[in-house]
Amino acid sequence: MRKRPLTPETYYRLPWNLADNAITWLEPTTKCNLYCEGCYRENDPLGHKPLAEVIRDLEMVKKTRHTDGISIAGGEPLIYPELIPLVRYIVSQGWKPIINSNGQALTPELVRELTAAGVVGFTMHVDSHQKRPGWKGASEKDLCELRLTLAQMIHEHSGGKVSCSFNATIYRDTLTDIPMLTRWAHEHIDIVQTMVYILFRSARKKNNFDVFVNGKPVDVGDLVYQLDNQENHQDLVSQEIADAIRLAYPEHEPCAFLNGTEDSRSMKWLLTLRAGTKDEILGYFDAKFAEWAQIFHHLFFGTYLAYTRPCWTTWLQKIVFLAPFNKSLRTIFGRLLLRPKLWNKPVHIQSIMVIQPCDLFDDGRQNMCDGCPDAIAYKGKLVWSCRVDELEKFGAFIQCSPRGCCGQSAQAVAPASQPAAAPEPVKTPAPTPEPTPEPSPVPEPAVQTAPTPEPTPVAAPEPVQTEPAPATPEPAPVLSAPEPAPESVPAPKPETAPVVKAEAKPMIRADAPPAVVVPTPEPTPQPAPPASPVVDATPEPAPAPAAPAKAAAAAKTVTEAKGTKAAKTAKSAKPAVAKPVEKQPKAEPAKKAGKPGKKKPKAH
Ligand code: SF4
Repeated sequence: MRKRPLTPETYYRLPWNLADNAITWLEPTTKCNLYCEGCYRENDPLGHKPLAEVIRDLEMVKKTRHTDGISIAGGEPLIYPELIPLVRYIVSQGWKPIINSNGQALTPELVRELTAAGVVGFTMHVDSHQKRPGWKGASEKDLCELRLTLAQMIHEHSGGKVSCSFNATIYRDTLTDIPMLTRWAHEHIDIVQTMVYILFRSARKKNNFDVFVNGKPVDVGDLVYQLDNQENHQDLVSQEIADAIRLAYPEHEPCAFLNGTEDSRSMKWLLTLRAGTKDEILGYFDAKFAEWAQIFHHLFFGTYLAYTRPCWTTWLQKIVFLAPFNKSLRTIFGRLLLRPKLWNKPVHIQSIMVIQPCDLFDDGRQNMCDGCPDAIAYKGKLVWSCRVDELEKFGAFIQCSPRGCCGQSAQAVAPASQPAAAPEPVKTPAPTPEPTPEPSPVPEPAVQTAPTPEPTPVAAPEPVQTEPAPATPEPAPVLSAPEPAPESVPAPKPETAPVVKAEAKPMIRADAPPAVVVPTPEPTPQPAPPASPVVDATPEPAPAPAAPAKAAAAAKTVTEAKGTKAAKTAKSAKPAVAKPVEKQPKAEPAKKAGKPGKKKPKAH
């Protein structure tokens, strides 16, 4: 099949920005009951934050950003002991709470409790690189049974009031599953509102880059999203996902996108809206429709739209009166007109989102999502949630430059790659005692590499010697022509040498959030918080289902927690106390010493 290029110039550029966005990211815990390969967050068994601290983060969000939804992620939010009061608090602020979960601890009872507390949507991250207990070695196709079990549970026990989305991190080896997954989403268009494909990124890329933080070399091997087993991974881009979807749906056409901070044509978030029934896709919404939805929602509710309840994505016929004003609606309703059998059946709207996290360009620039929807409050600032591990490990975001030629000009490169979202403040440079042409900035501690030795006089200011560059470095996925790196910057001698192995490409794996952009405006204000007492909902992760019967296993995985200590805890309406209750599944060995493990892919 001839490939059809994506044309961002014809798509609506989603109007999301730092101060006014459809969603905002929140991590009440970094503890998780899985160790997913694509995760960007370190799994910390003691990672539950006190509710008061989480609320402080939300108060900071309130002051700095208009937002429609709060994506409650982590870590695994379903094992956060104070999830229910947190959801109630979010509702009380007029926001839509969205649960981003791996679904492992989901139970019918918990769905009912969260629905009652005011949750608007679930985004379940399920993919074949998660090594789920009972599903090890399962293919993406096998996992559709688990997806279906989760979707049916959410639909049934929320009374159809809560939206259900699925995330999957896509690797090279699962790219061929995209047509099947998109078909599966279509077959369940009545209970699955959104399908999100998050393109895997790893710091482990032999890409001939030096990596710095505040001018000092660092080892990206410390980052949770560096994976040795992905050494040869070639980054995927949105075009490839669209090509794969079009194998199953040749008409597939996106309508909106979010560009990159370094490349206005890169499609960091790529949204497609389609309408249809379980049997047939009737058509795709165009850029004007996506624009209407965002503008209308902002005009009437003050925020841009990401998630909405299923009642607004069902019965497309309700907006037939808009057809005269929109070409894509005319096409869809024209086809519906020719199918009288469908006139009295609900036609659904379903979103397909592709998220392409950080791209590293040849010149070292890092192309982030412009107006990052998944920004998180971190130490009083909104930052990219996909790169918080850098702040945790190094105290600031990493900067990259091609090894050798301008390997010490990281600081010169830095401003161009900084996002709209305020990064961690760069520490004030302090002069070093070294007699170098320019004083090297001394960053805050934080760098967890080898301790910096005492300055040693050297004859000439040479760059820090790292591993020799490969003769033919693996090319980075270049989405735009790289800008020439500044040549005039005198190479400051990096402070005597915390020599690090900086050969890995600092591509950041960013599980972006499961964003669901739904075209229909949500006219209903957020419900007032229920007056019911605070409930400590701490479900125990479901035990691993037995391998053979996958369908039964899926049901077991997600339902077995019912009646467990967690379910009882949730019922007992205890005052909120942050106590890790859930029995942690046996942790798989962390990929490297000192790395406790990884959490579910965010994803986004
Ligand atoms: S991938 Fe990173 S930059 Fe993009 S939306 Fe997610 S957190 Fe923000």
